[in-house]
Amino acid sequence: MQNGKNILVIGGAGFIGSHTTLALKEAGFNVVIYDNFSTGHRDACFGHEVVTGELADQAKLTQVLKTHDIDCVVHFAALIEAGQSVIDPFAFYENNVAATLFLLQAMRTADVAKIVFSSTAAVYGNQDMDLLSEGLPNEPVNPYGHSKLMVETMLQTAAAPYGLTSIALRYFNASGADPEGRTGERHDPETHLIPLLIQAALGQRDHFKIFGTDYDTPDGTCIRDYIHVSDLAQGHVAAVNRALGQSQPGFEGMNLGTGTGHSVREVVDTVKRVSGSDFRVELCPRRAGDPAKLVADACRAKELLDWEATRSDLETIVKDAWRFFSGRSAG
Ligand code: UDP
Repeated sequence: MQNGKNILVIGGAGFIGSHTTLALKEAGFNVVIYDNFSTGHRDACFGHEVVTGELADQAKLTQVLKTHDIDCVVHFAALIEAGQSVIDPFAFYENNVAATLFLLQAMRTADVAKIVFSSTAAVYGNQDMDLLSEGLPNEPVNPYGHSKLMVETMLQTAAAPYGLTSIALRYFNASGADPEGRTGERHDPETHLIPLLIQAALGQRDHFKIFGTDYDTPDGTCIRDYIHVSDLAQGHVAAVNRALGQSQPGFEGMNLGTGTGHSVREVVDTVKRVSGSDFRVELCPRRAGDPAKLVADACRAKELLDWEATRSDLETIVKDAWRFFSGRSAG
């Protein structure tokens, strides 16, 4: 299959980037990956070509955009740990905001006017709402969320003067792994809930810590909207198609989530059930920067992208992640 369009996936060696690359290729796009491999994995690169480079290297990016005749950029490269962003905020503004400005400048120089951007539910912060819809005021509670919101603002303000068409996808909690086991979640150090629980279930960790049991939620632990990474990948394909089809510049921000929330305790129970392993759980104080509840209103993406999650029930997410991790640990 060949649709003739060239996509530059920045951060294509990472968790969501590698799944999205697979989905873009399956949809017939030519994919060039650009990654600095600071956190990505070479064996998770599925693009037709791979370029090693820094996001802040404007000259190199300009050259890659021109040489490969790129039609649309999909930009994942960022620091992503909300907790760490409270400890070292400037690192987040440098990597996520300043470096992205270099990318946008390179796109201007190379005359590439379409971008799909990895944003986050963290732009909403703590809202007293059951579901978070895109019309709510943005009130991030950590520098990670601020950094993503700043980029959304840059994209929005670039539409009229520079003719940029951009779509910001506000992810909820990316999780799971490729159902065929080709790629999965591998962070080092790992800070994310489901991989940490699986490591505990595999005996690679002595115990698991629940951060906060006194939130204003039914069981006192934080609630998140866990979305299967393969569903996220399909959302990106739909967003790329939409951006490429737009004849007018403009900015759109939309959630990619399921509309259903699960507490940390529910996820702990699901991992114990799926793995058949009973590991020790320690109840700990809250982690700084964690909103109590983040659950998507998923209507806008359904309307604009004709996209909705199909593989994101918690059991399937945990089973796919468990298969990926236990396969690796056995291999
Ligand atoms: N969490 C936890 N223990 C851990 C890691 C995470 O209790 O060791 C909780 C965290 O406080 C949050 C949820 O799990 O409420 C999801 O955290 P994660 O870091 O996976 O994603 P985030 O929501 O921060 O993007």
